[in-house]
Amino acid sequence: MTIDDAPRDALRGGPRELLRWVATGAAVSRADLSRLSGLSPSTVSQRVEALINQGLLEEAGAGRSRGGRRPRQLAVPTGGAVVGAIDLGAHHARVGTLDLSGRVVRGRTLPVRIEDGPEQVLGALLAEVAALAAASDEPPAAGLTPSATASTAADGAAGVLRGIGIGIPGPVQHATGRIVSPSRMPGWNGFDVAAFCAGRVDVPIIVDNDANLMALGAHRTAHSELDHAVYIKAGTGIGSGVISSGRLHRGAQGSAGDISHCRVVADPAPLCSCGNAGCLEAVASGAALVTALRDQGVPVSDLTGVIRLIDDGDRHATALARQAGRAIGEILAVVVNFFNPQVVAIGGRLADCEPLLASMRATLYERCLPLATQTLLIERVAASQDIGITGAAHLVIDHVVAAA
Ligand SMILES: [Zn+2]
Repeated sequence: MTIDDAPRDALRGGPRELLRWVATGAAVSRADLSRLSGLSPSTVSQRVEALINQGLLEEAGAGRSRGGRRPRQLAVPTGGAVVGAIDLGAHHARVGTLDLSGRVVRGRTLPVRIEDGPEQVLGALLAEVAALAAASDEPPAAGLTPSATASTAADGAAGVLRGIGIGIPGPVQHATGRIVSPSRMPGWNGFDVAAFCAGRVDVPIIVDNDANLMALGAHRTAHSELDHAVYIKAGTGIGSGVISSGRLHRGAQGSAGDISHCRVVADPAPLCSCGNAGCLEAVASGAALVTALRDQGVPVSDLTGVIRLIDDGDRHATALARQAGRAIGEILAVVVNFFNPQVVAIGGRLADCEPLLASMRATLYERCLPLATQTLLIERVAASQDIGITGAAHLVIDHVVAAA
């Protein structure tokens, strides 16, 4: 099956919202859900029954009674892996299996050579997800023959999953799951990730770009009570994901939030991989910092080396980090003035660089309307290697709930 956008669930008390209230602990009973949604008890009961029948909710024990029969407690099943996730980076990929609450059951980081091309890279990562899913299986029930429970083939193991969410470090056309003109991904342009994966595993495949995954993962785990948020992912590349009215905002094609080729003030303006000069990516991404330092004669091989130099107070690296922070702040100021979010959070490997963060913050306050920054939270995304696969899992969970 190919990807499709989960139908809108804008009405208060839709199945996804009911599930989220239970998953976050805001509701533990039908009565709680009725109170939160404003829906009648019978409507809530109907929806809850449907979610229970789909295996998306379960009843556990009995809740606190306010007189009369004790209410049955609702919970999101947390046993076993039900969702597969892949967060592909330039040099590494994080793969995992997660349960319906978005909790990581198993996770693994693998080295990746993106230049090996999509078939080889994605084929290996799908096999890893299948292996993790098979490892997550409950022990065989007594009485079943080994042949009935063995699941060594990728298809068989993936069969226990309800879907796989995949993040790609480049622009993804959301309706098709196709990659369009990525930087630093030779051989990937135009590749149909969803179709390729759907040909190998018989579960729904949802593809999105890595910044959107980070945004969704960070929003659901840290800011689910906030409706409007912008998440910057600053690593080897640079991008952002936008949460609007509580939902991931992708725009018409899926490119919303892609700030990488917005022009910033830089003199001289460095040439970008897209062919233009002075793009944010060419000034402020990890790859740009590596290039700029090398051009200054500083021997540095990768982003890890750059971060080490910044931490050691190297003046060349620190000056570049400040310039990068100002450049990100300039673009972000436009975004904040235009969009008026409640929180701006920065994640990715450059998020821990103090000089970059300080310049970004100062530029934001300088360039934004006071009304836009008055209560604006400016934060780091909690450093977690699992934030991307958590977002990928929520893509799938939302899809499953909407389909139910
Ligand atoms: Zn560019």
